[in-house]
Amino acid sequence: MHTLGERIVDFKNVNFSFGSGLAVENVSFSISKGEFVGMIGPNGSGKSTIVKLMLHLLNPDSGKIMLFGTDIQQFADWKKIGYVPQKATFFDQNFPATVFEVVSMGRFANAGLGKPLSQNDKEHVIDALRQVGMLEYAKRRIGDLSGGQQQRVFIARALATKPELLILDEPTVGVDSRIQHSFYQLLKKLNKAGITLILVSHDVGVVSRNVSKLLCVNRKVNVHDISNGISKADLTCAYYPEFEMVPHHH
Ligand code: ADP
Ligand code: MG
Repeated sequence: MHTLGERIVDFKNVNFSFGSGLAVENVSFSISKGEFVGMIGPNGSGKSTIVKLMLHLLNPDSGKIMLFGTDIQQFADWKKIGYVPQKATFFDQNFPATVFEVVSMGRFANAGLGKPLSQNDKEHVIDALRQVGMLEYAKRRIGDLSGGQQQRVFIARALATKPELLILDEPTVGVDSRIQHSFYQLLKKLNKAGITLILVSHDVGVVSRNVSKLLCVNRKVNVHDISNGISKADLTCAYYPEFEMVPHHH
């Protein structure tokens, strides 16, 4: 069990480049247990790269990353981290799996791939579907659902591993703006249930109304604590004048 305030993620002076030029420059921040953190910044600012560094899908060129107090190079407890990648819902809509089967994939990390799911695994799948309000769709084909419903199913898949940290990379891109409100309500509910959340978005306004800390990304990272309210500087933090911002219309 973890004590309140325990460090879940620590970046210290992390640098990363894909070749020419830094994509992530001297980034330091920490995230404690129970926080709901928004990671905002324009397209191409390095948000997904930071997430991939956090998941050890990429290795930093320099600096140090700690997960749950362990150096990421030694960290092995990946079940503690749920991840919904960017464009999760951009899959082949003819994919012949039911909602239950898709969420079951989240349990193979625990059960072992190829092994049948135990009753316990199945209960975790059902529980995850219930948490996102999609249990009644369990037998439906994933491709037959709306974008917003599919998004919930992919969150359920990440939740099925019982993660302590859930990372969502641009989860509302391609999702109807009308259902975004209920989506943020769901995230708040998960956070209240004790899950530490990192929500990546280029939509500053929406995210900042829902989180307690903003990581403003533009190759570098500025940390803004907005738990006691938000200032104009907080809202515009990711948009440095030297960086040409791409406007987004919804
Ligand atoms: P964001 O998620 O904020 O939109 P990314 O982290 O995806 O930004 O990208 C940050 C920068 O790194 C961009 O300039 C992007 O073009 C570059 N980049 C991302 N992925 C790759 C890759 N696989 N190879 C080369 N450059 C990449
Ligand atoms: Mg991205």
